[in-house]
Amino acid sequence: MAPSCTDGVNSLPGNCVFCEIVEGRRKAAILYEDPEVLAFRDILPQAPTHILIVPKEHVPSAVAVSDPDLWSKLMDVARKLALELGCEDKGYRLVVNSGPQAGQTIPHLHVHLLAGRSFRWPPG
Ligand code: AMP
Ligand code: ZN
Repeated sequence: MAPSCTDGVNSLPGNCVFCEIVEGRRKAAILYEDPEVLAFRDILPQAPTHILIVPKEHVPSAVAVSDPDLWSKLMDVARKLALELGCEDKGYRLVVNSGPQAGQTIPHLHVHLLAGRSFRWPPG
């Protein structure tokens, strides 16, 4: 089969770092939790505020989202956290890296919420 732009982002839940966090098998600084979504601080922050918002279910990447309602849940948690952390006036950035060329390193869907500094455009 010809290589595609999503190659390299598939994985099984068993050896997934974010599944380990969801299941409580790995420590994380958790800021938000509901039955479907978890949010925790990025271990290597790229901005003063850097939070990852993930579905509890193992979804490998953006391209694997079959239920569009998942996006509204993730984005609504991002919005609530941004408000809670007082990021709404100065602004914040939401990022979803999907696939190797976009820089996705953890094959479990996550939305980055970045705030607390200015961001350049276009991104690197
Ligand atoms: P991406 O490159 O878009 O796949 O983002 C993965 C993010 O996960 C990176 O910003 C990492 O710093 C972050 N990360 C990796 N391992 C952990 C962990 N155990 N806890 C919190 N964040 C992590
Ligand atoms: Zn996972």
